[in-house]
Amino acid sequence: MLRGPFLSRDWMGACENFDEADWIIVGLPFDGTTSNRPGARFGPEAIRPASWGLETYSPLQHADLSTVSYYDAGELEFPLGNRDAILEMIYQNTRDVLAANKRWLGLGGEHLVTYPVIRAYVEKYPDLAVLHFDAHADLRDDYLGEKLSHATVLRRVSDLIGPERLVQIGIRSGPQEEFAWMRQNGTLLESQDDVARGLSRLAGRPVFLTIDLDVLDPSIMSGTGTPEPGGMSFSTFVSWLTQFSGLNYVGADVVELAPHYDPTGVSTAVAAKVVREVLLLASGKSNPMAQTVCAGAQVSS
Ligand code: MN
Ligand code: MN
Repeated sequence: MLRGPFLSRDWMGACENFDEADWIIVGLPFDGTTSNRPGARFGPEAIRPASWGLETYSPLQHADLSTVSYYDAGELEFPLGNRDAILEMIYQNTRDVLAANKRWLGLGGEHLVTYPVIRAYVEKYPDLAVLHFDAHADLRDDYLGEKLSHATVLRRVSDLIGPERLVQIGIRSGPQEEFAWMRQNGTLLESQDDVARGLSRLAGRPVFLTIDLDVLDPSIMSGTGTPEPGGMSFSTFVSWLTQFSGLNYVGADVVELAPHYDPTGVSTAVAAKVVREVLLLASGKSNPMAQTVCAGAQVSS
């Protein structure tokens, strides 16, 4: 007789079967179009064990992960080297998750993995809006002649949903043309004073949240393909995130963890915590009002 306890390698606290879960976590170990430092294919397998170092409770959102139901499906096994076949696999699997009336939570992998997911989402939600955190705009029309790349992914998403349903936060690097495009289309929120403008694009619509971890400062997120100085602290990131609580989130992903560039493991720990905060926010568990009252006050919801 086996006695245990046994340590699961799935995401901490996950449901044991697909049917009972609201969210489906899917690992997407692909980094085939990464232009700077490859390694994001190792993100999903690193982030799961790191999740066991977290508490389920988030003091930042006054919410507990034990109130969210999610199933960890493991990782898609990709025919590495065949970008188009991989994108098709992601698309088909996203359709399956949506057909079962569940919400997708992708773990990248590079950012291109978001594109086939959004393709499937717009079939189910034609008025989908996208909330995008990133150091980079990812708005190039092509990159070295390629239309499908981690550097073009949000441009392709914009082709599907329209720029008026895109909101971008944290962008601090890119060619002048990308910044001109964001200004022209009003997609970029430059400070939290712009949040109302962002909310006007997202409220009342199904929203997909996509987070490129390089939006965080390299001092806490060196384990990524294209680190950019001048990024957010973790608490600034969460303060942005909670400004967008209460929206109708139908899916999310967290991408671009390349764990081997940070041998201290800090980036992976941070990434796991980002996933926790995303799950809480996107499940409607965030209680930002609770953060504004004085200690000891009674909070009614
Ligand atoms: Mn990106
Ligand atoms: Mn990026």
